[in-house]
Amino acid sequence: MDFDFSDGQREIRGAVSSLCARFGDEYWRQCDERSAYPEEFVRALSEAGWLAALIPQEYGGAGLAMLDGSIILEEINHSGGNAAACHAQMYTMASLLKHGGEEQKRRYLPRIASGELRLQAFGVTEPDAGSETPRIKTFARRAGDNYVINGGKIFTSRYQHSDLLLLLARTTPFDEVKKKTEGMSLFLVNLREYGDAIKAVPIATMINHGTNQLFIDNLTVPRDALIGEEGKGFHYLLSSLNAERILVSSESIGDGRWFVEHAASYANERRVFDRAIGMNQGVQFPIAKAHMAVEAAALMRLKAAALFDANRPCGGEANMAKYLATEAAWEAGEAAMNTLGGYGFTKQYHVERKWREARLYRTAPISNNLVLSYVAEHLLGLPRSY
Ligand SMILES: Cc1cc2nc3c(=O)[nH]c(=O)nc-3n(C[C@H](O)[C@H](O)[C@H](O)COP(=O)(O)OP(=O)(O)OC[C@H]3O[C@@H](n4cnc5c(N)ncnc54)[C@H](O)[C@@H]3O)c2cc1C
Repeated sequence: MDFDFSDGQREIRGAVSSLCARFGDEYWRQCDERSAYPEEFVRALSEAGWLAALIPQEYGGAGLAMLDGSIILEEINHSGGNAAACHAQMYTMASLLKHGGEEQKRRYLPRIASGELRLQAFGVTEPDAGSETPRIKTFARRAGDNYVINGGKIFTSRYQHSDLLLLLARTTPFDEVKKKTEGMSLFLVNLREYGDAIKAVPIATMINHGTNQLFIDNLTVPRDALIGEEGKGFHYLLSSLNAERILVSSESIGDGRWFVEHAASYANERRVFDRAIGMNQGVQFPIAKAHMAVEAAALMRLKAAALFDANRPCGGEANMAKYLATEAAWEAGEAAMNTLGGYGFTKQYHVERKWREARLYRTAPISNNLVLSYVAEHLLGLPRSY
């Protein structure tokens, strides 16, 4: 068992960290305040090739491993930034990579790798379906060589900053399938060509996430927008979930470390009752506990990523890493907020922004309750609870 990172992994961390240093806390604060997309940051990241990390070299990417991708996203959040602005490119890619046809991959992946096209948006969640994805109502009907899609999505993030949308739609109605997870299909929608049939209405949220409600009205896409086989879209999505869990947990680990470092530094400097507040166990213990939780989650994330890269089953580890890391980041955020007292609420210290951002991952892309259900059912053999 070897807990050391390779030279290459250390180089990735160093290079991403240097790039992030050009976009400091103030840059992110201003993006948050103006609800602006961190365009310059995402461009710099694309130009440096980091967003193409997981695309195989034959399609113009770097062909790096999941562990490398994890380090990239972790370092962005550890630097004080927010990888959510661009992480979907790494998550959503998995469905195209694993299940897309050769023609689709050759058409899109090199242009995504070069930064010419962005694949940042994915539309799964619907208002009436929520966590029960098979209840989605968006429907794609075959019409000759095309599909005509109608329906709507909610919480589709980064829509305005993406050229491509990965869209899940039913191709067989819910009440006509034997298993409810059947009869859904995945489409790669080129928004530059077909975007007019989709109306996006921004949803105001407590974080700068650029999320939208989509109204889809007779969106006509060619048959070759379909990924893989018709009716298997949900299974394709499931097969990319482990990657998503590992990458999300990495962002949370980055957040957690940021909180712990900021809290410890502030606790050492802030003097009240004529001594550093960090001398009080009531201040230092929560930071120490959060540090342990973050580092324990980081080990589970490493195990999950190592298994993933070795092509071994990692569903249990990926889910546990997602839960542990997102809860640890939240614990660390709370410790930081408490350490800073009233100053935690001011924008000047950036803790309140990171605290709001870190909270998201307990709920999205999957809520931690559903991760607990997975662990209970699949790892412990308990009855399915829903
Ligand atoms: C800022 C933001 C960005 C997002 N971006 C995207 C995106 O780009 N694309 C996309 O498709 N979606 C996106 N989402 C949606 C996100 O994935 C969902 O919000 C999330 O999966 C939960 O679904 P829901 O909100 O419908 O909650 P619901 O399913 O309504 O659940 C509500 C609560 O009930 C709990 N619950 C429900 N059923 C059970 C059960 N059986 N057992 C225990 N607890 C249960 C849940 O854990 C949750 O706490 C985003 C959400 C947010 C907030």
